Amino acid sequence: MQNIEQSCYWLATRPDQGEITVLQGKLDADIVVVGAGFTGLWTAYFLKQIDPSRDVVVVEQGVTGYGGSGRNAGIVSACVDHSHALAIVHFGKAEAARLAEIGQKNIDELAQFAFDCDFEKTGQLQIALTQKHLEDCRENNRVAEELGINSYRFLGRDEVQAELNSPLYLGASLVTGGGIINPIKLVGKIKAEAMKLGVRFFERSPVIEVKGGTVVTKGGSINARKIVLATDSYTHHLFPQLLWRFIPLYDYILVSEVLTGEQLRKIGWQNRQGIVDCRSFFNYYRLTSDNRILWGTSEANYYPPNRVDESCDHSEPHYRSLRESFVRHFPQISELNFSYQWGGPIASTTRLTPFFGTLEGGKVIYALGYTGHGIGTTRIAGKILAHMACSKETDLLSLSMVRKKPFPYPPEPLRSLSVNMVTNSLRQVDKGDDPGILLKMLDLLGIGFSS
Ligand SMILES: Cc1cc2nc3c(=O)[nH]c(=O)nc-3n(C[C@H](O)[C@H](O)[C@H](O)COP(=O)(O)OP(=O)(O)OC[C@H]3O[C@@H](n4cnc5c(N)ncnc54)[C@H](O)[C@@H]3O)c2cc1C
Repeated sequence: MQNIEQSCYWLATRPDQGEITVLQGKLDADIVVVGAGFTGLWTAYFLKQIDPSRDVVVVEQGVTGYGGSGRNAGIVSACVDHSHALAIVHFGKAEAARLAEIGQKNIDELAQFAFDCDFEKTGQLQIALTQKHLEDCRENNRVAEELGINSYRFLGRDEVQAELNSPLYLGASLVTGGGIINPIKLVGKIKAEAMKLGVRFFERSPVIEVKGGTVVTKGGSINARKIVLATDSYTHHLFPQLLWRFIPLYDYILVSEVLTGEQLRKIGWQNRQGIVDCRSFFNYYRLTSDNRILWGTSEANYYPPNRVDESCDHSEPHYRSLRESFVRHFPQISELNFSYQWGGPIASTTRLTPFFGTLEGGKVIYALGYTGHGIGTTRIAGKILAHMACSKETDLLSLSMVRKKPFPYPPEPLRSLSVNMVTNSLRQVDKGDDPGILLKMLDLLGIGFSS
């Protein structure tokens, strides 16, 4: 199997990064950020915006964007939670409305910042594949309206098939506000802007220990006043105690060869929306700027006990089932070949939104757990972490998402057992069964297991 920097379309086609510096010897800094994904990059960028005099250093084990940030589907949603209805369940109606406003403002600012990262404000189609999904779409639109959000519109079968021609589609919600982006260009842009502000970067420098205000790598160490952990699904490698609050999972993606004009004509997709369907384990897909189809699945895999490493980067069974599901959706272009395939790690929480906190008497600050939904929210988290690191006030610190921790996950062996039970129940729901007692109970507690 190819390594991730060759097999992931975004990483393999990324613009030249320039020279990489490995950490060697002893250094001092005001603030060290561990992890150069979106969370770490935005944190470093906002730290310099808040206080240009601070010496900020970012340390990354691979290259910038090596984790989920360089491997994702690039579908940008303005919604901070997985849906506005879930935001109400998790945080109450008033805070759900506030999150919706924060989320939309955040995406508008992101779009301005990322104008040269292939950001297309296409909106999103949330596809109904069953009668029940049609009801879900109508309900989602109603909830959005109730929160004062007017970016949802219901599309019937003919309308959605005119947007994108799949025989499986029965209807959809068309949600304006978000879009699609090239995530690795966004990674590169935030890094470049942070460097202009004076942030120093060390890459291919895995941190092996964080203790007493010191970040230690194999070749060097940095003493810092504050340390920001922006390591998402890898966090337990440094702080295993945080595993109570998240579970690491792997999502898998295919990217096709470039579509011919004739193939594009057969499917439509003139408006190039990012797409998700309404199942628990949904497909997500989009066009790239050179007109390939990126085809992913949220049927994420858990590798016990909490494995996150290169051995999980590929999964033949997932690739096979992705190709099969693609042909079911688009039989008219079933001949399409897929040139890239890869997986990436996701940190999932029981409330599907990230959590924040401190360790080591406040020296270490962290945010993680975007549950496969982090392109927009990492920018908000970076702003929050930067304020926490500088002890500066912002309204964002009062959000329940920041103040409260999600319901914990059980440790092994119960963890594997519960993942298997919930996965099987969700598969049954996707086949049209009623949610069983387990899912109903979890629903009541506002707990989710999907990515
Ligand atoms: C396949 C896939 C598809 C997705 N699709 C979407 C999507 O369409 N839309 C969306 O909004 N979200 C999506 N996501 C989720 C999104 O990518 C993540 O939520 C987001 O990238 C998280 O950013 P992060 O910076 O917190 O974590 P990461 O990007 O994982 O960054 C953490 C970084 O920390 C580094 N690190 C870890 N440990 C150490 C250490 N010990 N020393 C040094 N460095 C370390 C890692 O190498 C990594 O670069 C997807 C994720 C995956 C995997």
